[in-house]
Amino acid sequence: MEDQVYVGVDLGGTTIKVGLCDHQGKLLNTYEGPTGTEHGSDVVLDNIAQYVRKLVDDSPYEWEQVAGIGAGFAGFMNIPEGIVKLAPNLGWRNVPVKQILEAKLGKTVKIDNDANIAALGEAWSGAGAGIANCVCYTLGTGVGGGIIINGRIYQGYNGTAGELGHMNVIPDLESIDCGCGKRGCLETVSSATGIIRMAKEAVERGEHTSLALVPNITAKDVFDAAKTGDEVALRIVNRAAMYIGKSMALISVILNPQRFIVGGGVSKAGDILFDAIRKHYHACAQETAREGVDIVPAVLGNDAGIVGAAGLNLRG
Ligand SMILES: [Zn+2]
Repeated sequence: MEDQVYVGVDLGGTTIKVGLCDHQGKLLNTYEGPTGTEHGSDVVLDNIAQYVRKLVDDSPYEWEQVAGIGAGFAGFMNIPEGIVKLAPNLGWRNVPVKQILEAKLGKTVKIDNDANIAALGEAWSGAGAGIANCVCYTLGTGVGGGIIINGRIYQGYNGTAGELGHMNVIPDLESIDCGCGKRGCLETVSSATGIIRMAKEAVERGEHTSLALVPNITAKDVFDAAKTGDEVALRIVNRAAMYIGKSMALISVILNPQRFIVGGGVSKAGDILFDAIRKHYHACAQETAREGVDIVPAVLGNDAGIVGAAGLNLRG
């Protein structure tokens, strides 16, 4: 097994990134090219096959050493059968990715959603390396997540496990509608979108904050203001962190993971965010369930998807 390599495909709306990993999840080399979304799924899948061949050709490894290929998609899918049911960013409906790519490449192909593969990448060779049970949060435009149990992605009954952004943790009186059709989900407060919304509302209410002078407020602006001691910004950061910490406390008594890994654009805020998450987690989590548990930043950045996709062949 040690001379085998694994290919990961991270499919974005504009760029396809492919990477080769060894059996321990070390990223050996990468290649990328345009997705060609506008030409439809046949062309996109052709492009994937072409980039994968190029990736292996340009590496010191032989095609025969490739033990499997994994690919991540944003959208809804039938994971066991490898069918992308709906991928709005690609305009795909019911595309049998596994079947088509296996025919083109002659290798086993596995697919999963982008949040799960990012979690698997971190668990395999990133911030969760060596940890059997961990839960990953991705804080970006929304809040994504993935659950790793005994080193493998936990899918749940119909593949919806790990949708951490839709944990219903915001009290009724403070809740707003979520994109999923429900109210009070974690991501309405703890995503970049939620943080920006709270900042704009504070400015509109005429609260005294340096954010009132910022033309198009970003989540980074809010964290930067909090770091200078701006009280309104500090309150918003604290609220975003509080609900993440609370949700982790809930997960701790259900799954008792050893580590929480937090990635995504918002996590770049650093200590100001992590210290607050840890404070609220400690305040809420049952003592035995949180004993020895840590909350750490993701380390693989944009490579988490490629690494995790490659890992689907060993740990999917
Ligand atoms: Zn929701």
